[in-house]
Amino acid sequence: MRVSVFGATGSIGESTFDLLARRDDIQAVALTGGRNVARLAEQARSLGAEIAVTAHDDCYAALKEALAGSGVEAAAGTQALIDAADRPADWVMSAIVGAAGLAPGFRALAQGATLALANKESLVTAGPLMMAEAARHDARILPVDSEHSAVFQALVGEDTGAVERVIITASGGPFRDWSLERLEHATLAEAMTHPNWSMGQRITIDSASLFNKALELIETREFFGFEPDQIEAVIHPQSIIHALVGFRDGALMAHLGAPDMRHAIGYALNWPDRAKLPVARLDLAAIGALQFEAPDPVRFPALRLARAVMEMRGHAGAAFNAAKEVALDEFIAGRLRYLDMARLVERTIDQLLTDSCLTAPVTTLETVQAMDQMAREAARTLVLRMA
Ligand code: NAD
Ligand code: MG
Repeated sequence: MRVSVFGATGSIGESTFDLLARRDDIQAVALTGGRNVARLAEQARSLGAEIAVTAHDDCYAALKEALAGSGVEAAAGTQALIDAADRPADWVMSAIVGAAGLAPGFRALAQGATLALANKESLVTAGPLMMAEAARHDARILPVDSEHSAVFQALVGEDTGAVERVIITASGGPFRDWSLERLEHATLAEAMTHPNWSMGQRITIDSASLFNKALELIETREFFGFEPDQIEAVIHPQSIIHALVGFRDGALMAHLGAPDMRHAIGYALNWPDRAKLPVARLDLAAIGALQFEAPDPVRFPALRLARAVMEMRGHAGAAFNAAKEVALDEFIAGRLRYLDMARLVERTIDQLLTDSCLTAPVTTLETVQAMDQMAREAARTLVLRMA
């Protein structure tokens, strides 16, 4: 099987690499990364990839040197990274973080590859476009986000018309019990301590604010096509149940598993088969109890914003994600307080509502990227006023 991994050096990328390195039937095609060229080169050598691509032009020399004598081609820059998606592959992992992951994944669909989609931003910003492109080229998108993989698995053999509701779970993050007063002073270090999952920095902070769950509500709508009022999020601190699907007879099918992304990645890699995976088996008696609680809309406004975006559709997802990315950058840089991230996203959307493009249907990548840029500029201007 010919395999490419976009975002190979990240958290999902490393888990994917771990599973690929255990197999002897993999022909690695393209591996991409950012500034960690030493690790990218190591992965490319180990899997015998055709090409390794860093997103940064100024990292080209270092990557080329690290690959010297290996026979692996080196390339750099955004365009080279997107072009790498044209190389014939059967299975492509989309694991770049943020809106930057959209273009290469979209390109990979054009060659009819199976796209294992960890980059939820692709569906949040351009869901209808991604799904149409997959259908047009007879390509398949398999969800890698744990909740969406769980829903996908619960739906196997079922009539989607019999689905009443979908419930995705959220751990609640480190701030689950924090008061609003305390949240005003939440720091970056505090936001970066996830109770159950080990992930990249950005998604970890998004998990604390529930912006990650907000993106996932939209992702659920775009991938499965359910109506917004059929999709719920519930806080489940143990992160053992990843999602549940409720049918019209009242039955709820739940997916349980250890919080290890190799589960969802492995499912997408082996689909439609199930292969043995190196993930921990659950000891239910040792876990003892599973808790659930409703998310608090006041302390975690991200979910309310996601509902509004789901109703607006069009380019609202692209604007929402872009504003969220700016808010996150500003929080990481120490220029925005924790609760101001949601305020900034809400104000950005409110401001863009006056632009008719916001709710216009998504038909091309260019309009999505234009809305992304417009929202980033609006958010950056608003940040200055909030400081
Ligand atoms: P990460 O930050 O650990 O890794 C991101 C990867 O993308 C790295 O290889 C990095 O070099 C590359 N990258 C970053 N910015 C880039 C850019 N502008 N252009 C090209 N490459 C770039 O992120 P992660 O936690 O692995 O998450 C990756 C994606 O998977 C995200 O969309 C995230 O929401 C999703 N996801 C992650 C997890 C998880 O457990 N980490 C779970 C579910 C979904
Ligand atoms: Mg998830």
